[in-house]
Amino acid sequence: MFLTVKGLSKSFDDQEVLKHIDLEIEKGNILTIIGPSGSGKTTLLRCLNALEMPNKGLFTFSDGLEIDFEKMPKKNELTKFRLKSGMVFQSYNLFPHKTALENVTEGPLIVQKREKQAVFKLAESLLDKVGLLDKKYLYPHQLSGGQQQRVGIARALAIEPELMLFDEPTSALDPELVGEVLKVIKDLANEGWTMAIVTHELKFAEQVSDRVLFMDNGYIVEQGPPAQVLKDPKEERTRQFIQRIM
Ligand code: ADP
Repeated sequence: MFLTVKGLSKSFDDQEVLKHIDLEIEKGNILTIIGPSGSGKTTLLRCLNALEMPNKGLFTFSDGLEIDFEKMPKKNELTKFRLKSGMVFQSYNLFPHKTALENVTEGPLIVQKREKQAVFKLAESLLDKVGLLDKKYLYPHQLSGGQQQRVGIARALAIEPELMLFDEPTSALDPELVGEVLKVIKDLANEGWTMAIVTHELKFAEQVSDRVLFMDNGYIVEQGPPAQVLKDPKEERTRQFIQRIM
């Protein structure tokens, strides 16, 4: 198991939005997280990267790194934890005053303090991988939404994470641009990346997932292979949700 999470809880003020979540992510597997708006999907994903600090939760990685959020994690442990995963955001979150290339080099240069020449070489190969090498000197406002999101994916890959996290990566895109972003994610899936993806694209979820997790109201209602959760759900709440958005 790449990552095991036990007893993850998260509150904002007095509202508990994640209620004792247990989950596992296997190396090379793709976990998709579905569920109604406000059910806690984004918060769960952000907790996996400590962009939101969990109130409780024991995280254990296959290499032995273990963080218990009930105690205050040590700074160096938290840095290691954060560098395990790369996050792709719904609204891209690119730096507006940096070129596509600079957006991709930022993490490895500034956060990881890696060697400049190697970082630029890597960044170019990643922009090539997402089909944007010829746009490397353009700024975000000169790119379409789909292109910006592909830069976002290259940027997340640049820290060479073990886990890729996608938070509704296509929901801000015009419908005709969704396909190009999903294709990049499918390519990563075929390369064997370990990924967790929050999405409303159920057809896509069915195609790429090893496991689908349905959340409602801060709980995992059910999880399992896509053929089971999406086609033959055990729980009435899952069934209703799928009927509503299919
Ligand atoms: P989903 O991704 O399933 O739509 P979210 O994780 O975004 O759900 O939100 C779950 C709940 O947590 C919602 O009620 C939302 O309003 C609340 N929430 C999310 N982020 C914050 C925050 N930073 N501060 C306060 N409440 C938040």
